[in-house]
Amino acid sequence: MRRKLAAGNWKMNGLQASLAELSTLAAEHAEASSEVLICPPATLIGAAVAASDGAIGIGGQDCHAEVSGAHTGDISAQMLKDAGATHVILGHSERREDHGESDTDVRTKARAAIDAGLKVVICMGESLDEREANNTLDIIGGQLAGSIPDQVTGENLIVAYEPIWAIGTGKVPTLDQIGEVHDFVRARLEKRFGEGVGRSVRILYGGSVKPGNAAEIFAVSNVDGALVGGASLKAKDFGPIITALDNS
Ligand code: PEP
Repeated sequence: MRRKLAAGNWKMNGLQASLAELSTLAAEHAEASSEVLICPPATLIGAAVAASDGAIGIGGQDCHAEVSGAHTGDISAQMLKDAGATHVILGHSERREDHGESDTDVRTKARAAIDAGLKVVICMGESLDEREANNTLDIIGGQLAGSIPDQVTGENLIVAYEPIWAIGTGKVPTLDQIGEVHDFVRARLEKRFGEGVGRSVRILYGGSVKPGNAAEIFAVSNVDGALVGGASLKAKDFGPIITALDNS
């Protein structure tokens, strides 16, 4: 049985005052059957671990591929782990686009994160042009093959399918389109890593998940939860998404 996962990506949002949202979530969803993860900006990780009181996992949004060294402004996986993080998001489309990260970069970072004892949330998704050209499965297949290192297990790998055109836009693929990609990802994971590992990996959907559409998305086959941007910033929005996941 895969445990459902509601993951929030705060991106470059959040100051000390935002930790109150985490305390609210932690208090309201301490008994949630789903796992809850928040990835705040790195400046808040230590304080977020304290504010979430063990009820919510705290993750980073990126890490460097090396353990330490002359890389001004970067953060290593070991540093995230040392600050109390349990997970790290890698290969988000905003990193791929803003920082030119390739599948190889993502795979190398993922290896470093796993070596440091973190679970990795590896993101992939097609652009609107790629979707309209009917290339979605080819793109996802390439990203899956290129971004995931060999040494993953069913526990330390989480895949997030995030169509780029759905992120922050309010547009969501049809439920059939989501199901098609998630079934494809599951089949590819089983083929590459074997049925045991392939069936244990959680596959999240991300892209404009809101309280109003969460339940129908969570009913789609092979959707094991969500990676949520905007609606994870406030407990009043993320809370109902967690509840919808618990009830799915
Ligand atoms: C994201 O950035 O991972 C995301 C899914 O954002 P949003 O929920 O705001 O579309």
